[in-house]
Amino acid sequence: EHVDNPYDGATGYVNPDWSAKAAAEPGGDAVADISTGVWLDRIAAIAGTSSAMGLRAHLDEALEQDAANGSKPLTIQFVIYNLPNRDCSALASNGELLIAQNGLNRYKNEYIDPIAEIMSDPKYAALRIVTVVEIDSLPNLITNLNVPKCQEAKSTGAYVDGIRYALDKLHAIKNVYTYVDAAHHGWIGWDTNFGPTADLFASTVAGTAKGFDSVDGFITNTANYSALREPFFSIGTTVNGTTVRQSKWLDWNFYVDELSFAQAFRQELIRKGFKSNIGMLIDTSRNGWGGTARPTQASTSTNVDTFVDQSRVDRRIHAGNWCNQSGAGLGERPQANPAPGLDAYVWIKPPGESDGSSKEIPNNEGKGFDRMCDPTYTGNERNKYNMSGALPDAPISGQWFSAQFRELLKNAYPPV
Ligand code: BGC
Repeated sequence: EHVDNPYDGATGYVNPDWSAKAAAEPGGDAVADISTGVWLDRIAAIAGTSSAMGLRAHLDEALEQDAANGSKPLTIQFVIYNLPNRDCSALASNGELLIAQNGLNRYKNEYIDPIAEIMSDPKYAALRIVTVVEIDSLPNLITNLNVPKCQEAKSTGAYVDGIRYALDKLHAIKNVYTYVDAAHHGWIGWDTNFGPTADLFASTVAGTAKGFDSVDGFITNTANYSALREPFFSIGTTVNGTTVRQSKWLDWNFYVDELSFAQAFRQELIRKGFKSNIGMLIDTSRNGWGGTARPTQASTSTNVDTFVDQSRVDRRIHAGNWCNQSGAGLGERPQANPAPGLDAYVWIKPPGESDGSSKEIPNNEGKGFDRMCDPTYTGNERNKYNMSGALPDAPISGQWFSAQFRELLKNAYPPV
């Protein structure tokens, strides 16, 4: 069976690996039974390691949770994240495969094929298996072609080809659902990026075996910190006759928050040919921005910059900051049908897992050191030379970062 919205009426799979880490933190019990994404972030993640369950182990555990759960269906979420030249414009989540080293063929044969084979095992047919397809990939081909690894991903066609291959294999399995990553408002919210990104999604997906039918929807804000809603201003707000779009914070963006962006981007995608029943997901795992620094009312300032800075709940130094953000909190708990056009709010980035190390740490996962994770970094053109806003003493991406988990819990919004 393939339903329109796999989250509707379903219970979410609890990842025992993540749950144990969350429960071991002070107060973590309160959130440890929340469903989070399982990241298949390298070939070895499929079989599993001594410290992390593999794909079959998760699906078997999901069958047990499903059986214990009565008649409600169970939804389990996997992140498909291993394209060659992965995350080409950042370093912290670079992967194991390179285009120049046969990476695209390895992606297909050693990564996507075994995943599809396991997911298509008939014993898992009753599970609703959601896949989040290749975050931080296609939008990099729109905005970051000045980076050689992104240029190579574009000129060789490796990202487009890899994503088409993944969609063909995954969509062919009836109980598998595909959501393609669609960045976030602080990345493609400007007209110069918005339409071109939708065009690239459309041409990519139109080239799959089943065309637009291959995609169930899109996800925004994966592993990012963009606020779901800015309650104290909207894109139409003016301050003393000046539009908020002109503030340094918005910098002419057309969206002030993630919900308005996700809904508008969905419409744009439908205009470009996607089916009218596609649904959006928003990763709300770490965009809560609660705690004592959260504004409780609109500023009364008549200066547009001061107004926006005092009114915004997103407390980042700059909306381009993405690594281990200081002051962030857990966001909306996962829920189905939260708003028009939305299939669900989901927790894809498991809260407490680092975005990248604050200093260089040697490792065998291909993870680089990105200075956006260094709290002393003064920035680059992508965050307009602002401080990174990252927490200190972080381990490499994906590893447990206890101090961050505790802060996320403390600053949760809605509060835990
Ligand atoms: C890392 C992955 C990790 C994921 C979830 C990403 O940033 O690159 O290795 O599994 O975050 O924490």
